[in-house]
Amino acid sequence: MAVATLTIDLNAIADNWRALDAKSAATVETAAVVKADGYGLDAGRVSATLSKAGVKTFFVAVAEEGIAVRKAIGADAVIYVFSGCCAGDAPILKEYNLIPLLNSVEQVNTYLPSGAPFGIQLDSGMNRLGMEPAEFAALKDTITQAAPRLIMSHLACADEPDHPQNVAQLAAFRAMTDGLSTRKSLSATGGTLLGADYHFDLNRPGVGLYGGAPFTQASPALRLSIPVIQTRDVALGETVGYGAKWQATRPSKIATIASGYADGLIRAMGNGPVNLYAGDTPCPLIGRVSMDLITVDVTDLATVPDSLDLLNPIQTIDHLADAAGTIGYEILTSLGARYNRVYKG
Ligand SMILES: *Cc1c(COP(=O)(O)O)cnc(C)c1O
Repeated sequence: MAVATLTIDLNAIADNWRALDAKSAATVETAAVVKADGYGLDAGRVSATLSKAGVKTFFVAVAEEGIAVRKAIGADAVIYVFSGCCAGDAPILKEYNLIPLLNSVEQVNTYLPSGAPFGIQLDSGMNRLGMEPAEFAALKDTITQAAPRLIMSHLACADEPDHPQNVAQLAAFRAMTDGLSTRKSLSATGGTLLGADYHFDLNRPGVGLYGGAPFTQASPALRLSIPVIQTRDVALGETVGYGAKWQATRPSKIATIASGYADGLIRAMGNGPVNLYAGDTPCPLIGRVSMDLITVDVTDLATVPDSLDLLNPIQTIDHLADAAGTIGYEILTSLGARYNRVYKG
């Protein structure tokens, strides 16, 4: 087989949810964000696993994503939609019992008369989604009389614990919601780790469930094993790959393996340092990442195995992200459709 195998450990994802849940008091609910197809790992399977582990509330980005989640978790769990109710969403929200987090005056005015359940999204300083303080103040009585299920906002800098915007957004969220009896939520993974002040009634981690920063204690959920298609010896001074960017400084053995940027191995990753692993033994990725192939210096291996691992407990999505100048989220959601996906647990 010349396609790589991506093994997704659903038990690790459930463990990560339990570990994040343990960061807050027993009275605080820990939900799960499964947008973007469960950060690329299959929203249906991830939600079913987390539902069994005890998750009662899920979040998706857009209404359409709620369909697979509803099918996976049954009728009881609550599913919120971050984008609220956009044109054409109402029939999907109704049929699959999804709760929109209304984020503008227009959405509130259009949706409230339906009498269907809703939540409210406020802007506390990120300026992306949600009603501004003045907009919310003007509609506060109408909204609270209609009994929203949740009032939430989102932190822009929670992955930087000392960033002054965290306390500023906390204060802004409090100023808008103090005294309301509605359940409140401010924190994703980063805010969950900032401590009890940020917890309110419900935390909504995403990336930490899947093993990504800023939840550095997470159990790694992924292994990516890439088959070796060919090995060759190159002489001192020969170059490997596009642009002839890597040059052998000793007689070397090079393995060519079957994954590339078309599989989400972002080309900038070639800037390294990135390793491929033969068991626990690191072998450097060398040369440029091409569309379907990457090249590895296996000179120091006694025997070259049938496949080499790019993701394992030693080298996680965040290591690849650092090399590529991006974040673990982008590595996760880029992992390719071509992989043979194996689910554990
Ligand atoms: C994506 C998202 C989350 C989850 O964020 P993580 O950093 O992945 O934990 C929570 N809330 C909102 C509004 C989001 O967009």
